[in-house]
Amino acid sequence: MLAELRGLNEECGVFGIWGHEEASQLTYYGLHALQHRGQEGAGIATKNGKGLLVKKGEGLVNEVFSGDSLKGLTGNSAIGQVRYTTEDGRGAENVQPLVFRSTTGSMAIAHNGNLINAQELKESLEKQGSIFQTTSDTEVLAHLIKKSAGGALTQRDRVKKALSMLKGAFAFVLLTEEGLMVAQDPNAMRPLSLGKLGDAWVVASETCAFDLIGAETIRSVEPGELIIINNKGLQSDRFAEAGDRAMCSMEYVYFSRPDSDIDGINIHMARKRCGKQLAKEVQIEADVVTGVPDSSISAAIGFSEESGIPYELGLIKNRYVGRTFIQPTQAMRERGVKLKLSPVQQVVAGKRVVMVDDSIVRGTTSKRIVKMLRDAGATEVHVVIAAPPLVSPCFYGVDISTDSDLIATGRSVEEVRDLIAADSLTFLSAEGMLKAIGRSPEMKNCGQCLACFTGEYPTEIYADTVLPHEKELSR
Ligand code: AMP
Ligand code: SF4
Repeated sequence: MLAELRGLNEECGVFGIWGHEEASQLTYYGLHALQHRGQEGAGIATKNGKGLLVKKGEGLVNEVFSGDSLKGLTGNSAIGQVRYTTEDGRGAENVQPLVFRSTTGSMAIAHNGNLINAQELKESLEKQGSIFQTTSDTEVLAHLIKKSAGGALTQRDRVKKALSMLKGAFAFVLLTEEGLMVAQDPNAMRPLSLGKLGDAWVVASETCAFDLIGAETIRSVEPGELIIINNKGLQSDRFAEAGDRAMCSMEYVYFSRPDSDIDGINIHMARKRCGKQLAKEVQIEADVVTGVPDSSISAAIGFSEESGIPYELGLIKNRYVGRTFIQPTQAMRERGVKLKLSPVQQVVAGKRVVMVDDSIVRGTTSKRIVKMLRDAGATEVHVVIAAPPLVSPCFYGVDISTDSDLIATGRSVEEVRDLIAADSLTFLSAEGMLKAIGRSPEMKNCGQCLACFTGEYPTEIYADTVLPHEKELSR
C-alpha cells in the first residue's frame, strides 16, 4: 500500500501486442491495468508499414495519453511501458519505450527489471565508442544488438547474442521492423505472460492487463526464452539455458494486482493463504482484524478466517491524494501517511486490534498506523506481517535499496516491535510463505527469489554491483 508516500515503489510494467488493428488503443488499456507498477512515466510505440512511432511522457497513463493523442499511433503492433524511475534516474529521456533508429533497422524497447552487470557492459561499450543518451539499462541492450550488426547474423541472432550477455532480472519487449520479440531472464525473476486476443498475440507483466482487454492467458514466458512474433506466427527460441526459476516473492507479497495470476497462482488467493498461515503460526487474543489498504486486505481476510477473529474495515485509504503532495523526505513521508489513511473510530475504539500488513520496509507505515489506531481508541495493537522480515537489498529492480533503510536489518523482532510501539509483532516464516503461496515444491525454494528475506541471491552478484538507486549518483 501507500507506495508513493515513501518514495519506494515497484518496478515497471510492460505490455506488447502483435496483429491487431487497434494496437495502440489496446496497449493504452493494458497500461492502465498495469498502472500500479509505476506512476511516473508511460509510453507507447507502434509499428506501421512505414516505421516506428512513439509517444511517451512523465505522469500517469491518462495524463500522457490525454485527448486524441493515441490517434497518431497507427499500426497493428505496439509495445508500452509504465514506469517507476528509481532504477535508472528520473527524466523524460528515460521514459520508455526507447526508440533506436539506424540504417541497420529501427527498434523500440521496453524493459522491466534491473541488470546487475549494466555498469560493466556500459563501460566496455563506451570504450568501444558507444554514446549513451539515457541512464537506462535498456539502452545497453540496444547498443549490444547494434554492435553485432553488419555481419552474417540475422536480427534474431543478434538479439540472442546481446541478451545472453545480460545478467540480472529482466523482462524485455522489443518491437522491430521484423516482429515483436519478448525475452525473459534465465531465472524468470519478473512476471511476464503471453496471451491471445482473437488472432492477435499479447504479452504483459501481469495477466490483469489481459483480463481488461478480453484476452486469454496462454502461459508464462519461460526462463531464458526469446519469443518472436511476426506475420508468420509465433516462434519460441532461447538465448540462454533455463536456470533455476526465481520469481520475485515480493510480486506475490505486494506488487502484483490481486486479480493477476503468476505462473497460474492467483495473487489474492496466495495472499489470503499467507494470512491463514500466519494465523496458524501465532495465537493472538483480539477483537477485530483489520488490513492496511490495499495490498494487505487479502492477507487480513485470510488471517480473520483462520483465527475466527472478525475482519473489520478499520482503516480507510484516501484515493484522491495527488502525487504532487508526496515528497520523498522522511518527514513528508510520515505526514503523507496521515493524509492517505484514516482509522474508523467506531471499529477500533475500545478494541484489541490485529493490524495485518503485507510487509515492513522502513517501518514508517506500521509505526504511524499503530499510533493512529491507539489515538482512535484501540486498547491493544498487534501487528502481523504476511511476509518474513526484509533484511537485504534487492539488486533486481525492486526499490528495497540499502539494508540501512530496512528496519529489520540487524534487529530482533522484539527490537522492531519496540520501534513501532506495537503490543506484539509477528512475521510470517519463510517456510510458511513458500507453503502458502504454493508454487511447486519440486523447484528449488519453490522457484522463488527470497534474497531480500534471506540474503541468498539467486544469481551471481558482482563485487561492484551498483544498487538501483545509486546508479544515478554514480553516473
Ligand atoms: P514502510 O512504511 O517503509 O515500512 O513500508 C511498508 C509498506 O510498504 C507496506 O505497507 C507495503 O505494502 C509497502 N511496500 C512493501 N515493499 C514495497 C516497495 N518495494 N515499494 C513500495 N512499497 C512497498
Ligand atoms: Fe523480489 Fe526480494 Fe528477490 Fe528483489 S530480492 S527480486 S524484491 S524477492
